[in-house]
Amino acid sequence: MRKDNPGFVPDSPFQRSLPKEWIDFFSSFPKVELHCHLLGTTGKDTFEDLVKESGADIPQSTIDEFYTRGEKPVGVLRIFRTLESQILSKPEFLKRITFEHMKRVAEQSVRYIEFYWNWTGLKHFMNFEDAQKAIVEGLEDGEREFGVIGRSVPAIDREASAEDAVELVQEMIIHRHPKTIGLGIDYRETNHEPENFWKAFKLAKEAGFKITIHAGEFGEHWRNVETSLKLLGADRIDHGYTIIDNPELAEEAHRNDVHFAVVPTNSYYLRTFTDEEWAYKHPVKKMAEFDLKIFPNSDDPTMHQVSISESWLLMFNFLGFSLEDLRKMLENSIEAAWVDEATKKEWKRDWLLEFDKLAKKLPSLA
Ligand SMILES: [Zn+2]
Repeated sequence: MRKDNPGFVPDSPFQRSLPKEWIDFFSSFPKVELHCHLLGTTGKDTFEDLVKESGADIPQSTIDEFYTRGEKPVGVLRIFRTLESQILSKPEFLKRITFEHMKRVAEQSVRYIEFYWNWTGLKHFMNFEDAQKAIVEGLEDGEREFGVIGRSVPAIDREASAEDAVELVQEMIIHRHPKTIGLGIDYRETNHEPENFWKAFKLAKEAGFKITIHAGEFGEHWRNVETSLKLLGADRIDHGYTIIDNPELAEEAHRNDVHFAVVPTNSYYLRTFTDEEWAYKHPVKKMAEFDLKIFPNSDDPTMHQVSISESWLLMFNFLGFSLEDLRKMLENSIEAAWVDEATKKEWKRDWLLEFDKLAKKLPSLA
């Protein structure tokens, strides 16, 4: 593996040995991170500490296995379930995880981040209000210390019931906090279609929350993307890859300026394609051909062992997008952020200028 390969993606025909200035560039330009699951940012050291502090009966060998990205890595969702069911027994643990990731992303020049987090699997340990309070405190401390703006986006656990989802939204409304700005949905999409949760999404929309939906992941049907957009009124889509199987829908999404928070290291495509195919067949390539508004994200950075900067680097050096493409993606990510229009305008003006200045200084590549 080469030094600039985060260590788990196949070699790519687009791959070049990048000089240090280029590697630094990816961690230097201002960034937005919108598709990031709070539990997927738990560092290994922190995981070990929390196991000790909670008294959970989890052997070191299991933790080591959780944090190994080999041929057959442990599925991230299994790690999340372990955290929820046995380890995250106190709200302060959530605060710690949030704060630590704010520090991590500040070093990658992230200026704005939205964290997805689930309460349903945690409710045997704590009520919504306490969980939200802890995460918000982590965000506030992070903003004060590192200057990164953070927001909370509770997410529906789609493996739980539709009634659990409604309960989550009711809690969001009762304990309304200005830093909690929208509703997401995650966990296994297979056999857990978005429309099952229409009532929760409707309630959230009516209460003025934004909506984002994981759809079209794991090779699941494009219908889930269509349902999310047309029936549930999603403001943006997480993943959305199978939209490429329906050109008409893709063209419509292009016309309607739908934003897609994609993940270059998505494990389904790392598993599905051979090393030779990966760089050419990754659906983000086709999404870009449809001129869809995509932008890279890290999803579960400590578990995928990829930082947000590396996600951007992968788009360039492994999937073959140009600097100009990346600039457009940065613009897309700002547009997709759930902030007011004036702020977006300001960020676009300032951050794209910073991007251009940094890009200008880069040595040319052989
Ligand atoms: Zn995700």
